Amino acid sequence: MPAYARQALSFVRGSGALLWDAQDQEYLDAISGVAVTSLGHAHPEITAAICEQASLLLHTSNVFRIDWQERLGERLCSLSGMDKAFFCNSGAEANETALKLARLHAHHQGIAAPQIIVMDNGFHGRTLATLSATGNPAIQTGFAPLMPGFLRLPYNDIDTVWAAAAQSPHVVAVLLEPVQGEGGIRAADPAYLRALRQLCDQQGWLLMVDEIQTGMGRTGAWLGYQHAGILPDVVTLAKALGNGFPIGACLARGAAAALFSPGQHGSTFGGNPLACRVACTVIEVMAREQLPARAAVLGARLLDGLRQALATHPAVSAIRGHGLMVGIELNRPCTDLVGRALAEQHLLITVTRGNVIRLLPALISTEAQIDDIVRRIVLLLAPEAKPQPQHTAESATAVASSSW
Ligand SMILES: *Cc1c(COP(=O)(O)O)cnc(C)c1O
Repeated sequence: MPAYARQALSFVRGSGALLWDAQDQEYLDAISGVAVTSLGHAHPEITAAICEQASLLLHTSNVFRIDWQERLGERLCSLSGMDKAFFCNSGAEANETALKLARLHAHHQGIAAPQIIVMDNGFHGRTLATLSATGNPAIQTGFAPLMPGFLRLPYNDIDTVWAAAAQSPHVVAVLLEPVQGEGGIRAADPAYLRALRQLCDQQGWLLMVDEIQTGMGRTGAWLGYQHAGILPDVVTLAKALGNGFPIGACLARGAAAALFSPGQHGSTFGGNPLACRVACTVIEVMAREQLPARAAVLGARLLDGLRQALATHPAVSAIRGHGLMVGIELNRPCTDLVGRALAEQHLLITVTRGNVIRLLPALISTEAQIDDIVRRIVLLLAPEAKPQPQHTAESATAVASSSW
C-alpha cells in the first residue's frame, strides 16, 4: 500500500554505520533506521544471538514461563528503576499498554471518563489510540473519530498543567517524550520534568514517559528522564531495544506495576525467546562498551562540529542536540534534502516537521564518521547558502510524508 513516500534506493548489506546498495556503492547512515540500529548494522554479537536462539527455540507463547523474558525484564528494571515489564512488538503497542494502565488506574478510583494529558507536537505511534495521543494534525487527518480521553497541552509549560489540575478532575496521567523526536528534536526542560513529577505525586496521576526514541542510551543516559533525576511511573521502549529485531516494552513501578491482572492484556508474539535474547544482547553490548556515555561524547562532537561549521549559514535557524539526537532547523522547507543527501553525499538523513534535518547516528559510530557527517551536511547545505527563490508555505501532505 502506498503508505510511505519512499526513496528508490535499496540496500543489500551493512556493517556498523555503513550501508551498501546492489551496485556496491557505500553510504554513511546518520539515521540508524530511525533510531533503531544503535549498535550499527550486522553487529556480530546480535547476529550470533539470533542464530543460536533460532536453532534452539523461537516461540512457546506466554502460556509458559520464558527464561529470556524474565532475564530481560530484570535487566530493564534495574537500568530504569522500574519494578515490572510487559513485552510487545513495537512502540505503538508499548504505548497502548501504558494507555491501558492509565485507564485501569482511573477505573480503580471510580473515574469513568478519564483524561490523559499529552503534549503539542508529541508523537506516540500510528494505532488509533496512539495517533489520538499524537500532537500532529497531519497524522490524525482522515482517521476521525479519534479516541477520546486526551487533554493536549503545550510542551514545557508547567502552568498549563497546574491549571488542568485545578480545572479537570478526571485527569489521571501525563504522557510525554523527554525529547520530542518527530516533533523536531525539542527537549523537556529538566525543571519541567521535576515539576511534573511533583504534581503527579500530589494529584495521584501516573507520569508516563515515552522513551521509544530517546531510550537505550540515545540521549547520553540509558533513559532520557535520568538527566532530570526523576523516576516516572510508566516507561515505554522499542526502537533500539532490539537493534532491528522487533520488540517493545512497557515498564512500570509501584502501584502502576500491579494494575493488570491475568487476562487484562496480552500479546501472542510479545516477549518471545528470540526477541528477548536479542534485547538482552543489545543491553550487554551497550553496558560493556558504555555506549550511553559514548552517545554523550559523540553527540557533543557532532553538535559542536555542526555549530562551528553552520553558525553563520543563512538558511540555518537553530541547531539542537541531546546526545546522538540532533536537529538542524532551517528557515525554509527542506524535505528535498533527504534525496539530495543520498544522491550527492551518500548520506542517510531524515527531515521532520518539514524543515528540521534530524540526525540519529549509531552509538557505535567512530569519531571519524561523526566528523564525516558534519562534512557531508556542510557540503549538502552549501547551495542553500545562496539566495533562494520564494518558497510556498509547507503543505500538510509534505509534513505528513516527512514522518515515518
Ligand atoms: C517511533 C516512535 C513511536 C512508535 O513506535 P512504532 O514502533 O513505530 O510503533 C512512538 N513514540 C515515539 C517517541 C517514537 O519515536
